[in-house]
Amino acid sequence: MEHAPLIDPFARPITYLRVSVTDRCDFRCTYCMAEHMQFLPKKELLSLEELDRLCSAFVGLGVKKLRITGGEPLVRRDILTFFRRISRHLDSGALDELTLTTNGSQLVRFADELAALGMRRINVSLDTLKPEKFAAITRWGRLDQVLEGIAAAKRAGLRVKINTVALKGFNEDELFDLIAWCEAEGHDLTFIEVMPMGDMGEELRLDQYWPLSDVRKAMAERFTLQETAETTGGPARYVRLQETGQRIGFITPLTHNFCESCNRVRVTCTGELFMCLGQEDVADLRAPLRASTDDTALIEAIRAAIARKPRGHDFDYSRAGVGGQMSRHMSHTGG
Ligand code: SAM
Repeated sequence: MEHAPLIDPFARPITYLRVSVTDRCDFRCTYCMAEHMQFLPKKELLSLEELDRLCSAFVGLGVKKLRITGGEPLVRRDILTFFRRISRHLDSGALDELTLTTNGSQLVRFADELAALGMRRINVSLDTLKPEKFAAITRWGRLDQVLEGIAAAKRAGLRVKINTVALKGFNEDELFDLIAWCEAEGHDLTFIEVMPMGDMGEELRLDQYWPLSDVRKAMAERFTLQETAETTGGPARYVRLQETGQRIGFITPLTHNFCESCNRVRVTCTGELFMCLGQEDVADLRAPLRASTDDTALIEAIRAAIARKPRGHDFDYSRAGVGGQMSRHMSHTGG
């Protein structure tokens, strides 16, 4: 590493970067996006070269894990070019892990190549195993396509973690089916508590709020839940199901149960660096990226921002609705 590592004011090394490479998506999940989204003009987005410079700068500053997300990252044109180039940091050993959060729709096309360039694990978002419900919640998605994508990922040797947003009255009745399917397929499974964002009306949101504490209670009716202190360095808390040996994760984005160990920051597809999920403080990295081909100013801007990383977050519901799209706001979902 060429530079001193990034350490925030609370002595937390920043080793995990999550980068959104596009605001576009081929699905319109009701809890995430409006059906008719106004997407950003291309010039606002970081180019693939700028994304490479930005990610590489973070790797040079000690980031060990890079998660690519969106929007839907695999719909960004030429995204494989980015993955191929950035994978040099895996080859050099500077980066421990390059990973992806995807809706799975494009995995049939991309799984083999992602595995070949050194990706080992991916997160795939999947809220239901029923085709009609899948079509309803994603508005534009087809379950078959996603299941085929997940199968392609498995065949390619990628370890798959399914991320399921827990939605009352929607996938409550599929809790055990999802667990059984993941067991049969050998996928990990994490539940995410729904955040009050996106296009859902206020009432629908409240209707669909299924606290993960209730998900656990429901699970405990059929399984013996063993508490585990295991962590993967992320926000999930885990239990083990004694009967099947499965590890099930829970992510509750609104609770402050992981700030102390927060090692992560995220960058939006326009180059805004967010230091914390629940705070609006943001640093513009696009300006220093575009001002010079030399990375000195970029690195300075990153360091200055990390020096402002807050101790923890205090999520404010009133801000959550603004802008609507989840991927612009959130850094902590398994996503
Ligand atoms: N398109 C990719 C995907 O589907 O995983 C990456 C972006 S998506 C915004 C990342 C994750 O955020 C997904 O697992 C999605 O289900 C989750 N998500 C979106 N809106 C959410 C909300 N309101 N509450 C909780 N999780 C949400």
